Amino acid sequence: MKTHTPLVVGNWKMNPATLGDARKLFLATRKAIGRKKIITQVAVAPPFPFLSEMERLSPSQRIGLSAQDVFFESIGAHTGEVSLPMLKSVGVTSVIVGHSERRAAGETDAEIYKDIQAIFKSGVTAIVCVGEQARDSHGNYFGIVEAQLRSALRDIPKSKLSQLVIAYEPVWAIGTGKHATAEDVHEMKLFIQKIVADQFGRPAIKKVRVLYGGSVKETNAQELFEDGRVDGFLIGGASLNPVEFGKIIHIADDYAKSNL
Ligand code: PEP
Repeated sequence: MKTHTPLVVGNWKMNPATLGDARKLFLATRKAIGRKKIITQVAVAPPFPFLSEMERLSPSQRIGLSAQDVFFESIGAHTGEVSLPMLKSVGVTSVIVGHSERRAAGETDAEIYKDIQAIFKSGVTAIVCVGEQARDSHGNYFGIVEAQLRSALRDIPKSKLSQLVIAYEPVWAIGTGKHATAEDVHEMKLFIQKIVADQFGRPAIKKVRVLYGGSVKETNAQELFEDGRVDGFLIGGASLNPVEFGKIIHIADDYAKSNL
């Protein structure tokens, strides 16, 4: 039985090329989701320059707005950075933090920790990405995910745990067309929940959603959601195809409704 409202987030990364294309993609996404009542929370994470226009296009907030990154300081001499007050002022309600593409560009666990602290203070939801570069036959990848998580979750107040979402995103599965098996996803979800329970106590498991990301498509979403038993998805490539993204949302939503 599912205990969480599902969450499906589309990470557009550095796409599409122009504001005009972003408008078309957003409107097509809205159309693909349709008017049917859904219990799933949906968000997209467009590039920063497109956020305020996307806010204007979704007055009902049927599609929430997420940011792909943030800088922990609120204001000042930080050329090229974007703050939480700025993001909140254009309707952002969740922030992806520690995405593997940011980590590959040099973001450290220490910076991620500071970003998460700032996100929690701001009242926005943090979607914290963790995941190993590669799998090995000795299970060392569990240690890697654990170290990323323990560093990220330090000092989060228990009272704010409903603002925390953890996205398990094995780096080898991102944008490669190779996804983790539903069995592996479920195993990692249980492992992540064990760490959450260890740090915050067992009731915390009910507050923290665990997503999977890494080559989610309409063809594997059902299995990953049902047998992987995740609370939703973080989706890159397929979120740029509105019809496919819409189908994935409805797959998660139909399953969640049938398990209410
Ligand atoms: C991602 O970048 O978070 C991601 C999951 O990408 P993709 O769905 O393309 O693998």
